[in-house]
Amino acid sequence: MAKCYVCGRRASVYVSYLGDYLCSEHFAEYFERRFLEAVRFYKLVERGERVAVAVSGGKDSLTTLYLFSRFAGELGVEVFGVAVDEGIAGYREYKLEALRSLAGRLGVEIIVGSFKEYFGFTLDEAVKALREKGFKVKPCSVCGVLRRYVMNHAAREAGADKLATGHNLDDEVQVFVMNALKNHVEGILREGIVSERAEEGDLVPRIKPLYFIPEKEVLAYTLIRNIYTPFVECPYIVYALRHPIRHWVNEVEDSSPGFKYRVLAVKELARKTARKPSRKPSRCAVCGEPSSRPLCKTCLYRAYLDERYRRVVEEKVGKLRFSTYGLE
Ligand SMILES: [Zn+2]
Ligand SMILES: [Zn+2]
Repeated sequence: MAKCYVCGRRASVYVSYLGDYLCSEHFAEYFERRFLEAVRFYKLVERGERVAVAVSGGKDSLTTLYLFSRFAGELGVEVFGVAVDEGIAGYREYKLEALRSLAGRLGVEIIVGSFKEYFGFTLDEAVKALREKGFKVKPCSVCGVLRRYVMNHAAREAGADKLATGHNLDDEVQVFVMNALKNHVEGILREGIVSERAEEGDLVPRIKPLYFIPEKEVLAYTLIRNIYTPFVECPYIVYALRHPIRHWVNEVEDSSPGFKYRVLAVKELARKTARKPSRKPSRCAVCGEPSSRPLCKTCLYRAYLDERYRRVVEEKVGKLRFSTYGLE
């Protein structure tokens, strides 16, 4: 029987990059200490701030909500959750249920913004339209853009000073590898533990307190703290290209513990040494939200999917040619 490195009692978690076993209690303590250290060292929040946690209902975001709620007093912040209902039948309702149940237990308020109310269509309806157009753009890309829009808008309206997401070490490594393969330097420079886009006016600054924590450990923590989420996957995940990269990263980590941290170190070094592109904050000509181009991606996709919105957009920016955006 493996014993806890700290207390010698029966161990339940093996932390491979430390080479140590820990019991449930000492693992949870280790986990929570790293959360607090990341929040304090990187000054992710300040006393008196309102922190919105972007909650999808998955284990990472529920853990982030749980931790901020547990340590709200110690950190001196007010915490609430923001969720987006994309309108994905057979998936979203179950995740929302798990979220509401945890929020009830923690006594935390949850705000839900839906695609239907914001854009007039659900993601299921959007996917139908995308299919008819031959899937020139993947459902996950459209969903990601629209979801960030709703999330930011809802958090801002609720007076959030920060928007915390549940991205963990694995997410960061996977996205870094994908960006590196696509030579998408701007994406690499932008995505740190604090989002570099924060200064662009109406964007609520985004923070990632689980940035240094491996996915496996988040899972172990949810089991220890009874943070439950149902095992339903988004039905559109088959269209995502992240799976093979995730698999490969995990394989290398297994044979060489600490690999993920070494990749993250390379990314941080690149972020420190590279010259950041200086971009002036600008706004979308149609909806007025922060955007690096004259027409934001949310308005572009909405116009692409919805004839009526297309007319609204064309009244402001002139005839839209989707082919110039690679959409036709
Ligand atoms: Zn112990
Ligand atoms: Zn717009």
